[in-house]
Amino acid sequence: MNTSPVYLDHAATTDINRAALAALTEQMTRTGNPSSLHGAGRRANRVVDEARGQIARAAGAHPSEVIFTSGGTESDNLAIKGLFWSRRAANPDARLILLAGIEHHAVLDTAEWLQAQEGAELLWMPVDADGVLDLAAATALIDDHHERIALVTLMWANNEVGSVQPVAALAEYAAGYGIPLHTDAVQAFTSVPTDFAASKAATMAISAHKIGGPVGIGALLVRRDVVLTPTQHGGGHERKLRSGTLNAALAAGFGVAAEAAAAVRQNEYERLCALRDRVIDAVAELIPEAVLNGPADREHTGQRLPGNLHYTFPECEGDSLLFVLDMLGICSSTGSACTAGVPQPSHVLVAMGRDARTARSVQRFTLGHTSDERDVEKLLEALPEAYGRAKKAGMAADESSIHTAGTGFTR
Ligand code: PLP
Repeated sequence: MNTSPVYLDHAATTDINRAALAALTEQMTRTGNPSSLHGAGRRANRVVDEARGQIARAAGAHPSEVIFTSGGTESDNLAIKGLFWSRRAANPDARLILLAGIEHHAVLDTAEWLQAQEGAELLWMPVDADGVLDLAAATALIDDHHERIALVTLMWANNEVGSVQPVAALAEYAAGYGIPLHTDAVQAFTSVPTDFAASKAATMAISAHKIGGPVGIGALLVRRDVVLTPTQHGGGHERKLRSGTLNAALAAGFGVAAEAAAAVRQNEYERLCALRDRVIDAVAELIPEAVLNGPADREHTGQRLPGNLHYTFPECEGDSLLFVLDMLGICSSTGSACTAGVPQPSHVLVAMGRDARTARSVQRFTLGHTSDERDVEKLLEALPEAYGRAKKAGMAADESSIHTAGTGFTR
């Protein structure tokens, strides 16, 4: 009998692809700085170049547009700070950053830092109840404020509720005014089509560990005509945008993972949608009061990430349910942070118009390349009991305490 835990948190990080692991470990045994002129350096540089080409092909970009970074967070920081500073240098009035409240903290906190430290002003684009950008409202904001907008940022797909955003439409609209758009495609890349060139985005963030590559490497795709102010200075690597010795082994693992994931993308899309819909149908029967958040996308038109399931389970603390599920051998996520022991509402659900209490009663299950029917059946077996136990524990009585009584879990 297979008693290993059921891993349903692939949006947080996913298993490394075997071929990517082999490429990574092989390169880790070899020496050579890709910037060195001797044979060992040139060999390492060829490894980086090959990976750059693999990632570019998977993302619909030119190899010279791939700027290696340490991951999605750094890519978002470089794009948003870099675009803001370069646009403001060209026009001191260009201080507005257009963004939506559903962005990942790598984007939100960077924009808020620029507001606190660098005189940026934030203009919020609304999203609907499914967590999808209100495109008409966003384009109206661009019409009204275009002379002062430094950049627009819109994630390709949301990491909590899986909603896919109209990135190409918004990028094209912004480009009509010469305004660059950054997109955080960390969750979308190799999951739904993300063609960088066709999207008209100026910059796009991706991360290896979300797609079967190693942790510690990502990339920012930067269109060749886009000017970015670097955030990190040194040896002038990566078009002078990101100084620091390149890690050939991590790049090799990232390149192989990107190529492998892109090759099976369509099949994986259908396979994961089928597993996802099996859960949606069964949960509707087993727990009728559960509310699926984000677009249901039963026609598989790409409005929702194929492996994403996100629910509100009423009158139960998301953290309590997570702990009970964990005890029952299921790894899930609330998607939002628990700050100093106090459960926090999901900022994504709040941006979607839910009240703070509802926004704390959420659970995210994300499927990935190792997920199968067994995982889904185990979840469906455990969920009603886990929900019952977590609901018995109730919601945290006030903002200063979390009570896990009745869950069987102490902390
Ligand atoms: N952006 C999104 C949408 C994410 O989901 C994540 C990670 O969860 C990040 C950015 C950060 O990526 P990384 O973990 O590679 O820094």
